[in-house]
Amino acid sequence: MTQNPPDFPLRALFEAQHAASRAQVDVPLALRRDRLGRLRDLIETHADALSEAVEADFGVRSRSLTEAADLFVLRAGMGQLHKQLPRWMKRQRVSTPFYLLPARGYIQPQPLGVVGVIGPWNYPLQLTLGPAATALAAGNRVMLKPSELTPQSSALMASLVHQTFSAEEFCVVQGGIDVAQAFSQLPFDHLFFTGSTQVGRQVAAAAAANLTPTTLELGGKSPCILDASCDLRDAAIKIAHGKLLNAGQTCIAPDYVLLPKGMEAEFEAAYWAAATKLFPTFANNPDYASIVSERHHARLLTLVEEARKQGARVSGWDVPPADASTGRQLAPALLFDVPPDSRLMTEEIFGPVLPVLSYGSLDEAIATINARPRPLALYWFGRDDANRDKVLLRTVSGGVSVNDTLMHVAHEHLPFGGVGESGWGAYHGKVGFLRFTQQKPVLVQSNFSMGHLFYPPYGERFQRVTGLLKRWL
Ligand code: NAD
Repeated sequence: MTQNPPDFPLRALFEAQHAASRAQVDVPLALRRDRLGRLRDLIETHADALSEAVEADFGVRSRSLTEAADLFVLRAGMGQLHKQLPRWMKRQRVSTPFYLLPARGYIQPQPLGVVGVIGPWNYPLQLTLGPAATALAAGNRVMLKPSELTPQSSALMASLVHQTFSAEEFCVVQGGIDVAQAFSQLPFDHLFFTGSTQVGRQVAAAAAANLTPTTLELGGKSPCILDASCDLRDAAIKIAHGKLLNAGQTCIAPDYVLLPKGMEAEFEAAYWAAATKLFPTFANNPDYASIVSERHHARLLTLVEEARKQGARVSGWDVPPADASTGRQLAPALLFDVPPDSRLMTEEIFGPVLPVLSYGSLDEAIATINARPRPLALYWFGRDDANRDKVLLRTVSGGVSVNDTLMHVAHEHLPFGGVGESGWGAYHGKVGFLRFTQQKPVLVQSNFSMGHLFYPPYGERFQRVTGLLKRWL
């Protein structure tokens, strides 16, 4: 399989894209659509092979999950880009304040130049080709660095992209952390990173040295609040789905649950009823994904054991948590009475393990959320609109689904991104297009401009004109 484009060390690859982006600044609609079309054909022609590669990377990972969570989302996003591009690319007239009339003003959208994309392993197609497609649609050149933890899908993407695009248009750079670090030090016009908060800090620091603007799509602990007014069975199945999809290895998976004191036993029963409906067995179930690596698997076991030793009650691990023959599939667990200073409550979990915390009042639940870094997502379940609004207005998160989990990510007209430690900048839909676009403001002066009235020497005329203007402002 093709590795990095032949004869192109990383820096030379960047230089080639940079030179090409400066040689052709105005990238017409037809070329943008051609690039999008080539990428869409690549995905359609090789959808099965790409899904198989993702499955091989994980050990167990349903192709249907890749179809829904990677390929479907990609198709939907690219369809919208293709359709909306003519509108989004157009210059936009803006109204002009009276004191500048009869000048005119407009905003001219332009490509930024070369965009770097660094991707994670959990949805290895959507979170790499998705931002790449948006950046291409915005007229940019793209260099993509996928995760070293999904080597088969990364290698296949690289091979297919290099068969379909010239290296100056779009290329894939493979390699480990050393390559990722060197990649983040390139003076891109924009660097789009999806990954952990810890690595995001390093990427932001590397980009700052070049004054490269970044988008950081990071992780965090996304809370799930059950209101006393909720339909518990409905909430339980949606929480179980959001948590167990890809075995909890989803950036916006519910990380912990907050429920009213006294609802614990009912929730525990409803959660297991829902979980076993979705996944009648966990071991050897082709629908239930493996944990991506031995290291990640061992970390999750340690987190739970530490919490257990600190006094937490573990529900659900009467089945053996894992063994090699199950391809690192890890049975889900609910945990009660988890100490707030345990790693389970201070680190992002990123696995099928769900702490359940109880609250006495809604204010207490809100305070628990606000005492932590701002989460990537927040979920609220209930029928009491006043309580819903109270939670949504008094907490800040990257995004929200009400009476569901995960689904806001699939809404193409909603921006997707984090806030604070869960990241900055957002994409999807028009917001994504603008993320990779310079919105250049242009003022066109008129022959009848009155600007000279403000020129020096400052004297009586200047005083009279500014005095008059002050009255109208
Ligand atoms: P990670 O941060 O370990 O790695 C992400 C990418 O960064 C990989 O391609 C890796 O090679 C690269 N990388 C590693 N060290 C680097 C360095 N020092 N400099 C530059 N690049 C470096 O994340 P991961 O384990 O692949 O993914 C899981 C994390 O990503 C979770 O925290 C999850 O919440 C987050 N995530 C966020 C989103 C989102 O949209 N906000 C989506 C998926 C995953």
